Amino acid sequence: MSLPLPLQTLTQGHLNSFEQCPRRYQYQYLEQLAAPLDPEFQNRTDWGSQFHLLMQQYLLGLAIAPHLGADPTMTQAIAALVAAVPQLQTHATREAEHRRLLAWSEQLLLVVVYDLLVIERDRAHILDWKTYPKPPNLKQLAHNWQTLLYPFVLVETSDYEPEQVSMTYWFVQTDKTPESWRLDYTTPQHEQVRTRLCNLWTQLQTLTTDDGQRDVVFPAVDAQQHHQACRFCPFQVRCQRAEGENAESRGNAQQVATLPEITLSSM
Ligand code: SF4
Repeated sequence: MSLPLPLQTLTQGHLNSFEQCPRRYQYQYLEQLAAPLDPEFQNRTDWGSQFHLLMQQYLLGLAIAPHLGADPTMTQAIAALVAAVPQLQTHATREAEHRRLLAWSEQLLLVVVYDLLVIERDRAHILDWKTYPKPPNLKQLAHNWQTLLYPFVLVETSDYEPEQVSMTYWFVQTDKTPESWRLDYTTPQHEQVRTRLCNLWTQLQTLTTDDGQRDVVFPAVDAQQHHQACRFCPFQVRCQRAEGENAESRGNAQQVATLPEITLSSM
């Protein structure tokens, strides 16, 4: 008799990584390998994390002044975002850092964390803060698993129809007025996401042995057809796909690109 498979938790980060390259997913999440970040990118990541923390405190009605420190850019960025977001000017129900779980199967749990969920009687708005400029190419963001998974899980775990749900990214920078990009969710999109999730989960399961162990080497993307994925991957040296002396810096760039608060328009 075979043992039941252990429950697996997947976030949008897992899904993005696996879809881009299963080998990368294995290195990043199963083996938890990582390269050291460039100090400049590390600083940006730290600033983004602090921004999220303080926004959460603000939305919970807690004092943020004692935590602002000597960085005036943080104060300006928070004030600019609070002034810009229409849902923060209303009395609608708001939940900051709202975590939702969706049991996709007996083995799989999908997890999302909304920076802010605004709930109205006949609508729900998912808001997400990004501490980088609005990307010139929004097509990539539209296909990102965060954009897909966040509304999907909300619809599956509530009474809202897809057409009653929207997701808005707010791009916050220290020297500019915040910009936004809104996605109005639809029933066809919802069914497309369901199909993509089914396909990915099936692929992932085929790489899992009967006893739940993943002792296989996950497939790498084709070196020629997926040149871009390898070119900016932090594991290109390990995969023997490094190209010349810039390999390490490219790897660092891509590693940063995978972090929640940092992205690169070149992705
Ligand atoms: S270098 Fe290429 S094949 Fe190797 S993990 Fe990265 S994307 Fe995948």
